Amino acid sequence: MQERLEQILEECRKYTWEGEVADYIPELAKANREEIGIYVATDHGEFFAGDWEKQFTIQSIVKTIFLMLAAQDNGIQYVKDHVGVEATGKPFNAIDYAEHKLLREHINPMVNIGAIAVCELVKASSNDERLERLLNYTRDITGNPKLEVDHAVYLSEKRTGHKNRALAYLLKNSGMIVGDVEELLDVYFAMCSVKVNCQDLAKMGMLLANHGKGVKSGRQIIPKADARFINAVLTTSGMYDGSGEFATRVGLPAKSGVGGGIMANKPGSMGIGIYSPALDRKGNSIAGIKMLEKLSREMDLSIF
Ligand code: GLU
Repeated sequence: MQERLEQILEECRKYTWEGEVADYIPELAKANREEIGIYVATDHGEFFAGDWEKQFTIQSIVKTIFLMLAAQDNGIQYVKDHVGVEATGKPFNAIDYAEHKLLREHINPMVNIGAIAVCELVKASSNDERLERLLNYTRDITGNPKLEVDHAVYLSEKRTGHKNRALAYLLKNSGMIVGDVEELLDVYFAMCSVKVNCQDLAKMGMLLANHGKGVKSGRQIIPKADARFINAVLTTSGMYDGSGEFATRVGLPAKSGVGGGIMANKPGSMGIGIYSPALDRKGNSIAGIKMLEKLSREMDLSIF
C-alpha cells in the first residue's frame, strides 16, 4: 500500500500544474501549487506520501465539522428543519436568492450560506464560547490537540469576505440567524482558517468511516446515526457543484476546501486526507481528485 501510494502521487504530480490556486482570499494565493500530499488511515495501518505534513487551512472542510457538532447538539431532525440537504447544483458561494424568498430547504449545509446558518446551531452562550467549542471539537475528532487558527488567513478572510457577509445578512433578514451577524461570521472565518495537514483530515475521515468510533480508543465520539447522516450529505454535496461528477469518478463521501484539501472516507475501512492547492473552476483540488480517482479504481473503493 505504501509503495503504491507513492506511485499514485508521482503519477498525479503533473496535474498540480492544472487549474489555479485560490486567490479571492489574498492569503491563500501564497500557496505553493507544486506541493502535493496524501495520507491514508485504516484500521490495520497508516500510509502516506509527499507533502502530507504540510499545513494548510481547512476552509470548507470545516462545514462537515459544523454539521457534526450541530447534529450532536440538537439532533439530526432539528438540523434538517433549519437547513435542507438537497444539493443546490450551484457554486459554493452562490447568492442568487435575492429575488426569491429564502427557504430553509434551499440552503444546503455544504454551501456557504447553509454552513453559516449551521454554525449558529452549535450551542453556546456566546460566540467566543462557540469558537472555543468548535476548536476543541476539531481537535477531538482529528486526534490532534495542537490544532490552531492561522491568524493571517483569518484576518485576510475577515477583511475580504464581503460575499459571505452578504449571505449572512440575507440569512438574518429571513430570520435564519438569531444573534449578532458579525460575531457569527468571526467564528465562521476563524474556523475556516484552522491549520490542518493530510493526517488530520485522514483521521477525521476514519472517524466517519468507523461509524463515529475512535479507532484506537474505541470511544463512540459521534453517534453512529450522525456519521451515516454526515456521509450521506457529503456524498450528495461535499464536492460543491462537482459532487455528481465526483460520485461517478470516485464514489466516496468527501469534502473539499479552497485551501486545496480533501477529506474522504470509505465507510467501514478507510480515512483519506489530500492536499494539492491548485483548484478547478468549482473549487476542487485537481491533482487531489486525480489521486482519489486512481486510488478508488485500483482498490475498488467506490461505495456504488
Ligand atoms: N472560507 C471560504 C469562504 O467562505 C471557504 C470556501 C471554501 O473552501 O469553499 O469563502
